[in-house]
Amino acid sequence: MQELTHYMNGAHVKGTSGRFSDVFNPATGEVQAQCPLANEAEMDQAVQYAMAAQPAWAAVNPQRRARVMMKFVDLLNRDMDKLAEALSREHGKTLPDAAGDVQRGLEVVEYCIGAPELLKGDYTDSAGPGIDMYSMRQPLGVSAGITPFNFPAMIPMWMFAPAIVCGNAFILKPSERDPSVPLMLAELLEEAGLPKGIIQVVNGDKEAVDAILHHPVIQSVGFVGSTPIAEYIYGTGCSNGKRVQCFGGAKNHMIIMPDADLDQAADALIGAGYGAAGERCMAISVAVPVGDETADRLIEKLIPRIEKLKVGPYTSGKDVDYGPVVTAAAKANIERLVQSGVDQGATLVVDGRNFNLQGYEDGFFVGPHLFDNVTKDMDIYKQEIFGPVLSTVRAKTYEEALGLAMDHEMGNGTAIFTRDGDAARDFANRINVGMIGINVPIPVPLAYHTFGGWKKSVFGDLNQHGPDAFKFYTRTKTVTSRWPSGIKEGGEFNFKPME
Ligand code: NAD
Repeated sequence: MQELTHYMNGAHVKGTSGRFSDVFNPATGEVQAQCPLANEAEMDQAVQYAMAAQPAWAAVNPQRRARVMMKFVDLLNRDMDKLAEALSREHGKTLPDAAGDVQRGLEVVEYCIGAPELLKGDYTDSAGPGIDMYSMRQPLGVSAGITPFNFPAMIPMWMFAPAIVCGNAFILKPSERDPSVPLMLAELLEEAGLPKGIIQVVNGDKEAVDAILHHPVIQSVGFVGSTPIAEYIYGTGCSNGKRVQCFGGAKNHMIIMPDADLDQAADALIGAGYGAAGERCMAISVAVPVGDETADRLIEKLIPRIEKLKVGPYTSGKDVDYGPVVTAAAKANIERLVQSGVDQGATLVVDGRNFNLQGYEDGFFVGPHLFDNVTKDMDIYKQEIFGPVLSTVRAKTYEEALGLAMDHEMGNGTAIFTRDGDAARDFANRINVGMIGINVPIPVPLAYHTFGGWKKSVFGDLNQHGPDAFKFYTRTKTVTSRWPSGIKEGGEFNFKPME
């Protein structure tokens, strides 16, 4: 059995806490590795290394720091297949999906190459008599990030690339369910020229997270994961005086207007609802067709498409649409919610229960499900299922559909499918959700914009990546200087150059 490590001060180190968690191969259900779970002393050791390394790194000029990111991009491209394979093996997603996970992280690293420009300060000449004023952005010191299982390459890169290029040291606490790719990323960063101690990966669970939240040296904490944990980390981190940003769960609605191209909408729902087994925070989990006729036609188009979906292990190649979910516990939770939908009166139009894949009977595969006639009071509507389950809530009017998405406590992403520009514009303006798609089902902003939801999908002020990340990982310092010798009474200039 493979025993995984932490990555500290430029080396792989064994866990010393004596606690481990199982890392599964989701396709077979086998335990393939043991992940060490750090205790407070191990986290403190990483912080000491980070503290020792960070001042010299902050003193490296931004252009040189950006060059490390340039080289890192080259190495990510060189190792893309290797990273994707390692990611699929622990997460279960298909190889193209895994490569996409690496790619969307890489794009943020590319954005960070612009650090010399993005970190430039402001300057006001002659703000008063003999007075100049300038602002600069300085790194925070030691930053930490806690990341979820569903994007084990992308989300760590969204955090550590801006943190590091701004001159911070970064401690990553990745998901204990798929920790191998984060360890590989740390190695690649050092191959790209990053000094040791600036990126460290400390594996663990709540104990390691609490050690981060209570460590007096750690200045900022980034978190991505489920809403209850986001709420806990935000509250605890802020009350300990840290800068904290937390991104939580989602329940993304897609409104389908009667004038929409229904084939396009149905294709979009297949990708956004079932892709990556629904384990995406930007997955569409609720379809809201407006009018019964739209709903009937949409369901008619969805059924054959869902029945054609191929579910299988990543090793089956590109023909597979989605793989297993991450653990047996995740599978059991999806099954529990599906059963609650049936019990609470929703119509299970496509029944993925009892899905069985020959040769992979112990894998964590879940068949695709489609519900119709879902109502607001049902658990499948209120809770995030994080599985291949699409719920249809029928709305009589556009206002009713808009109100549904507005009233839901989550506000990560949403989409409208329509040919009506007025409706699309009205939707984008009024909806209280952070990321909006117009005839785009998964509206993930690109690296140079920012990513973040509203309502219970976020805790904190600044979004991920884009210009917000440079604000989150730096502090502004403003200097006001006065050189009064050149000023005569009355403010007249009296400067004599030196002979
Ligand atoms: P999770 O909340 O279970 O775990 C996230 C991280 O928190 C992990 O590193 C885990 O070790 C740690 N953790 C778990 N329990 C903890 C506890 N009690 N105390 C302290 N730390 C704890 O989330 P997950 O299952 O890994 O990921 C899926 C969730 O993440 C979904 O809800 C999904 O919507 C959300 N997500 C959100 C975004 C976003 O940008 N909003 C992006 C990706 C995923």
